[in-house]
Order: sequence, then C-alpha cells, then structure tokens
Amino acid sequence: MPMLSDPSKKYKPYPALDLPDRQWPSRRTTKAPIWLSTDLRDGNQALANPMTIEQKTLFFQQLVKCGVKEIEVAYPAASDTDFNFVRMLIEKNLVPDDVWLQVLTPAREDLIKRTIDSVAGAKHAIIHMYNATSPLFRNVVFRNSKEETVALAVKHTKIIRQLTEECSAQTGTVFKYEYSPETFTQTEPDFAIEVCEAVKAAWGKAGPGEDRIIFNLPATVEIGPCNHYADRIEHFCRNITEREKVIVSLHPHNDRGTGIAAAECGLLAGGDRIEGCFFGNGERTGNVDLVNLALNLYSQGIPPNLDFSDIQSVIEVVTQCNDLPVHPRHPYAGELVFTAFSGSHQDAIKKGFEVQRKQHAEAKARGENQYWDMPYLPIDPADLGCSYEAVIRVNSQSGKGGIAYLVKQHLGLDLPRKMQIAFYQVVQDIADREAREMMVDDIVTAFRKTYHFGGPSYQGRLVLKSFEISSEPSVEPDTERSDSQDERRRFDGTILVDGVLRVIKGEGNGPLSALLDGLRTHLDIDLSIREYSEHTLGEGKEARAASYVEVVPPGEGRKAGWWGVGVDSDIAGSGLRAVLSAVNAAIGDRPLPELKLLVGFDKRSSLADVASVVLNALHLELPKRLQASFFEVVQRSVGDKDDDVRVKEVSYDTLIKLFRETYGYEVAPEQSRVSLKSFKMEYLGDGSDSRREINGEIVLDGKVRPLKGQGNGPLSAVLAALHELIEGTFAVREYSEHSIGEGSEVTAASYVELTYTRDEESQKKSAAWGVARDTDITASGLKAVLCAVSKLDFKPRSLVNGSA
Ligand SMILES: [Zn+2]
Repeated sequence: MPMLSDPSKKYKPYPALDLPDRQWPSRRTTKAPIWLSTDLRDGNQALANPMTIEQKTLFFQQLVKCGVKEIEVAYPAASDTDFNFVRMLIEKNLVPDDVWLQVLTPAREDLIKRTIDSVAGAKHAIIHMYNATSPLFRNVVFRNSKEETVALAVKHTKIIRQLTEECSAQTGTVFKYEYSPETFTQTEPDFAIEVCEAVKAAWGKAGPGEDRIIFNLPATVEIGPCNHYADRIEHFCRNITEREKVIVSLHPHNDRGTGIAAAECGLLAGGDRIEGCFFGNGERTGNVDLVNLALNLYSQGIPPNLDFSDIQSVIEVVTQCNDLPVHPRHPYAGELVFTAFSGSHQDAIKKGFEVQRKQHAEAKARGENQYWDMPYLPIDPADLGCSYEAVIRVNSQSGKGGIAYLVKQHLGLDLPRKMQIAFYQVVQDIADREAREMMVDDIVTAFRKTYHFGGPSYQGRLVLKSFEISSEPSVEPDTERSDSQDERRRFDGTILVDGVLRVIKGEGNGPLSALLDGLRTHLDIDLSIREYSEHTLGEGKEARAASYVEVVPPGEGRKAGWWGVGVDSDIAGSGLRAVLSAVNAAIGDRPLPELKLLVGFDKRSSLADVASVVLNALHLELPKRLQASFFEVVQRSVGDKDDDVRVKEVSYDTLIKLFRETYGYEVAPEQSRVSLKSFKMEYLGDGSDSRREINGEIVLDGKVRPLKGQGNGPLSAVLAALHELIEGTFAVREYSEHSIGEGSEVTAASYVELTYTRDEESQKKSAAWGVARDTDITASGLKAVLCAVSKLDFKPRSLVNGSA
C-alpha cells in the first residue's frame, strides 16, 4: 500500500496538553539523574535470543563497574531463568551493598509473591509493579473501567506492602516500591495522576528522601515530540501531591528517534530518574540510551556519575551479550564518531589541536582550567579511552592537513606546507594503487620509506657516516665585499654509497651546498637546494634539530623537486641528513659512478677517492694532510712511469701496496730501519702530573738498543729516548688517532708526522708520516713514530766504547 497523499485521514496527531505557563523550556540541567538500567529486563525481553545466565551475569557486572546503582535485573515471575538469575546474584553475593536490585511484576497476587521471593535476602530491592492505564488498553485489551483500573492498582499495591514487610522481617531486605501507569503518555493526564495518588495512599508510607515512592512515567511507545513528553512530566510533577515524597522516573522509548530529547526535556520538566539501556537496546527502536545521556551531561561539564573511561570494553560486553552491533555512527560509541574523513575537517582538527595545546599551556601557567574547545570533536576521545590515532583516517577524500597531523603526532615532525603537499601525493598514490583506506601505521611507514627516515631499515642508497665542516677563506678574495660571504664552507665526510664507504669533499657557501658540491664531483649528482627550513624537536638536553629541504635539478626551477628530512642533535648534521634524504629520492635506481681510481693531475675527485680506497681496504681514516701527502705520492708513482699522464686508472691493490710501503704500515720489522721490541711507559713521581718515562728496546739498523727517556707525555718521552740514540732533532708536527671496530675487537690507529733536523747548522729539515695500528693505544702511537723515523734519513749516534 502506498503512502497516503493525506495521512491525516489515517493518523491522528498527539493529544496536546494545555500548559501555557510551562516552566521547563527555560530551565537548565545541572546535575545527573538517578540512573536505572533495564538492560537485563526491558532490553533482554527485546532480544531475539534472550541472554543466558552467564551473559546476564557478565552484563550485570559491567553495569556495576560503570557505576549504575539501580539495576532492573529480571521479570522473575515470567521465567525460571529470570528467577534463578536473581537468586544466583544474591546467593553468590554478586550485588554490592550500594546497588539496588529491581524486579518487575504485573498486578497479580501469585506473580507478586514469586517476584518478592526472588529478591528475598538481597540487601536492597525495588519491587516494580505496572498495570495498563490508557484508554486503548482499558477498553480494548482488559475491558476495565477507570474505577476498576484504580482498584486493581490499589489492591496489588497493598499486597506488595504486606508481602515486602513480611519479607523484610524475615530476611532484612530493604524495599522500595515503584509503580508504572503503563502507557503513561497515552493515558489521560488527570487519570494518570488519579491512579498514582491512589497507589501512593495504598502504599501509605511514602516519605521524603530514601522513603520516596517511585512513579515511573513511561513513553511506552513514543507517540509525540519531546516537548509533549516534557509537558506531560511537568503537569504530573505540578499536580501530584506530596511531591517531595515522590521520585519521578522517566522511561522513554525511541519510536520517533527522539528518546534522548524526550529524556532531557523530561528532566527539565521535573524528572528525577531515568530508565534506559546501554546503547539504546530495547523493544522496537529501543529504550533511551543511558550512555548517550550520560555523556551529553559530561560534555556540558556535569558529572554523570557513570564511568565510561574504557568505552571500548563496555561496547564489547554489551554487544557480546545482546548480540547486536553498535552502529558505527552511534553517538560517542560508534567506531567512526571520532574519525574525520574530510580534508577540511582534518585540517581544522589539526589546527585545533595546535592552538589548544598552546592555550592549555597558557591556562596551566595561570592556574586556570584547560577547557576542551575543538572543532568537530565535542568531547575529548581520550576521556573515553579512545586514542587520537583513530581521530583521522585517510581515504581518497582526505586532505594533507590530516596526514601532516599524523606525521606530527607520531614523528614529531612539523612538515613545511610544500612538503605536506608532496607527501600527501605519495599517500594518495598508495591509497589509489592499493584501493584501500590508509591506516595510521601505513602512513607512518610510507613516510619513513619515502624519506629514508628513522633507522637502518629505512636506509637509502646514500648514508652519512661522519663529517666535518670547516671554513676557509674564499678562493677568490673579494676586497670590495669583504664584509660578508667571503668565508666558504668545506664539507669533508664519509658517506656510505650503495654499501661502499666513500670519502666525499666539497665546497660551497654553506654546509649543504658544500655537500652538494661534493656529490656533484664524486657521484655525478647535480642538484641544488630550492627550499630549506628547520625547527627544534623536543626540549632541554633531549632537544634535536629537524631540517627539511627540497632539491631540484639545475635549470628546472618550476618543476616539483624532491623533499628530504633529517634529524640530528647537531643542526648542520640535520641539514646534511635532510639533503641526503632528498637526494636518495631524487636518484631513485639510477646507477652511480663506481669508485674508480683515476689519478691524474686534473682530476678533482681523485684525492677523496684515494682516501676512500684506504678507508674501505684498511679502515684507516687518514687525516686531511696525510690524504694530500699520499695523493702526491700516488701521482708521482704514476708520473714516474709515464710523463704525459693526465688521467690514469690505478688498481686498488697497487694503491694499498704503495700506502703500506710509503708509511711503513704493518710491514715486517726487518724491512724498516727502526722497530719496536718491547717497552714500558710509566708515570713519574706520584703521578700528580703527566710526566712519563719510557723504558724498552728497539732494533735500530739491525741492532737491539735500549730505549729510555722522559717527557711531558708518551710522545715526548719517546722522542727524548730517540735523541739518545740518534743525532739531530725530531719533532711532532701532527698527531692523531682513532679507534677501529667496537667492543673487545676495538683497535687503535695512530698517525704521526715527524720533522727531523739532522744538521743543526744548516737547519735542513725533512718530514715523514708514520701510520700504525695496535690493540694498545700507546703502542700504536709509538709504532707510528718509529715508522716515521724509519722513513727519515737519520744518523745514529756512535756507540760508546765502540761496542757496536
Ligand atoms: Zn520499556
């Protein structure tokens, strides 16, 4: 049958109540009502499969946990399951002392008796009796007159009074009485009051406070808008006598979808108590949802006296017991309610969180309340145990703001606007390609992979291992503009390139352009920086710098470039890492020039490449001057064979052999003029200063000689000892050392450049480098010195007494 063009021929409007001086519309709710959960009765009766005793027990315990103090647990006269459930709760002592068990009974003596038997022995019990009072039920269903209806209620109220008094005497159970004129909203207003007055008189012991009688005024079926319900409640509250001895209980159903509104308006109209179910379960469209009502109060700053700090576990228990889902868009509880899909919402939330964080910090400093004030989020999801992670999800409608927010939340990175756009595109591409919604973890992982950010598993092809930035005067001194920019920066670092350590050197106006210069020279990567920004990450000692950089190929200023990010405790380090992050994106899979030793006289890259080979083969990080020195040696060795060398390739083996020979590095002792046999280095005196004495033996020109001397440190002690054996003067021009490896495997490498003046008169000075490695750092330094000595053209002192 189609819908009628004139539905007034079929449906009558609700009967309006004339209440021109109604007060409720201008009142405000300032405190929570008494809550009565009827999940286990009204809710359970409405289930296709009523709950088992185990499920009812689980649900009961959840209600108690949430802080519900009045729980309608059963309709005990209707089924043995219900009766046994109530007995079990009492006998197993599952009811806390401050919780009232409520049980429902119709107005029939035998059923009332069984109902009271069910709660005998409970600490607190509410007997809830109802009879139908509306004309429809009076005339059609029960064929009762008004008088008969009142008489029925009165008679059975008296029976309840008598039986509960007997039960109290025997078991000590404290009783309250609740009466429902069923279908209250469809009952004539004055007749509803008439019945309740008669019941109150029959009960005969309603008093203020704890002794109040409860009148439940159900919208058994919701037939009118919420203002109609509120008018009915206000009318009842104003006309019932001894109002102070009455608890007015509201029992809205949701047939029109306005159960919540009816309950809230009914509270304004004088309701003291609300009966409902969690998440709105119940006959047809359900009872009013207590969770929704409680959290509405909470969002207004009113304590609801119900705790939903872990709403997910409440949802789990309730859905498991009812076998009904909670709608994904159910207020406060649905899985999507703290989720923003649209880009503009995500953006607003991101900004909201940022502003709120500042406002909260300021309010906290002033000792003021930190109010929740967020676009699109009426309450803080965290209060319900929901995490912010769920706040933003990404689909094809999502914006860059939401994604940037997630990156900020999870990695602390505040991406520049243009980088947000770039990363947004990356995420969109993945979402499109995989045709799915991207979750938080997907986005964070995508960020790490894209920008090679956060640990070895996300490492790119180029990885910064160590670096040094030094300044040097401009290559072309500009006297006219000497005030600024005349200092250039030099980058000197070690970068892992496709798994091979490479020494990279470059120059530029700043550290980043110096690195890019190095990459251009050594790896044929030609990029320049278009955008750069930075911010600090964290506070105090933990503070680090985050840098963002966009690189572009030369001459393509308009096209999109590649973004990179770097984090380091050092600001130069974070910038350099950001550059490499962007460069990794820019180079993709493109092959890079392999390390080849092109040792000519016009090849800029070769000095660093030579150092790279020594580093990879011997793990030696040569000091800069030694790099230059060795490079000269290499060039000469090539030049010796062919005078017209411009660019010549040298094999790794040749180079390493040349290095060992040149610096006496790890050569057999018999191959050098001086070698160490044994030594002992000791502090002089009480050790309060650093003066040292060395005692040992060396082999000098094939003969064992004592080594004995003192100095301000190990090196000067060794030189003093050497001066006893060799004519002329040695001095240390440069010394450095570093460790190789880690833990028990660690060894020391030492580099020393010695000068030697053999002839004091002519002042002719020569110099040589020595390189050595030993597990003991003093031995390593000592051996390096002896290596250098061996390379110098020294003259031993003649032996006393001609014993040689
Ligand atoms: Zn109901």
